[in-house]
Amino acid sequence: MKKCRSIFKFQLRMFVSILAVVLMLSGCALELELGSPADTSSGSRQNEGRLRVIFLDVGQGASQLLISPSGKTMLIDAGNNDREQAMLDYLKEYGVNRLDIVIGTHPDADHIGGLDRVIDHVDIGEIYMPKIQANTKTFESLLLSIKNKGLKVKTAKAGLVLEWDEDVQVTMVAPVQTYDDKNNMSAVVKVVYGNTSYLLTGDAERQSEKDMIESGADLQADVMLIGHHGSKSSTTLSFLKKVAPQYGVIQVGENNYGHPTSTVLDRLSKQGIEVYRNDLHGTVEIASDGHTYRITTER
Ligand SMILES: [Zn+2]
Repeated sequence: MKKCRSIFKFQLRMFVSILAVVLMLSGCALELELGSPADTSSGSRQNEGRLRVIFLDVGQGASQLLISPSGKTMLIDAGNNDREQAMLDYLKEYGVNRLDIVIGTHPDADHIGGLDRVIDHVDIGEIYMPKIQANTKTFESLLLSIKNKGLKVKTAKAGLVLEWDEDVQVTMVAPVQTYDDKNNMSAVVKVVYGNTSYLLTGDAERQSEKDMIESGADLQADVMLIGHHGSKSSTTLSFLKKVAPQYGVIQVGENNYGHPTSTVLDRLSKQGIEVYRNDLHGTVEIASDGHTYRITTER
């Protein structure tokens, strides 16, 4: 009986020590399990399920980098010639080595100046530009880079539906017609993801804005790139009311044109639109999970 009890005690002690070891091990495993998915999700939260629209600070000029929920990329414009290196640095910073879609909104240097170097340096899927030429070195240099890469320019015009990411609708709402004026020839792109929407307007001016309204296209967008760097040639009240944005982004740097004009700033303020500017905020990112926006500014 005594012997029996001591064996029992021994077995009990063994059981307790094994249990302790098992608990210790499982405790570790539990910690690892808790630790690793949390780490992964905080990393993937930045990309998975989010559309990122980044209004890159290129000084006086324009450039928008879009990264889709599945990692597809699109670049609309690339700033002026003096921003070529900055553009390559931005692409590196955002981990972009291929651009599925490139759009040169119109052939002005402050939009296409940096595009030649971008095309020289990264893989390009498709490129869209409106049917208008410019007799400038900048434009010629861009055409040369396109040719060297073996790319064929597709015509940017209203009504185009771009295949990019199956969860994101990308349509072109301008140019509706052919104009002599380069700014009015600007490709205007509407991007819709879930309940969220963006309108990226290039330098489209009042004539193009009027034609977009008359085209009957759905122009409403929560986020609007304010046309032509805030020049009073764009963002007419009727166009602004049609788009009815919650947020407005002005891509502007030091300039002698008086951009952004007080006329446009007043109009935006009267409509209660929250304004972000590259000259004040640096690069501005407005990301969407399909329902809500997350706004990040450089400063
Ligand atoms: Zn411009």
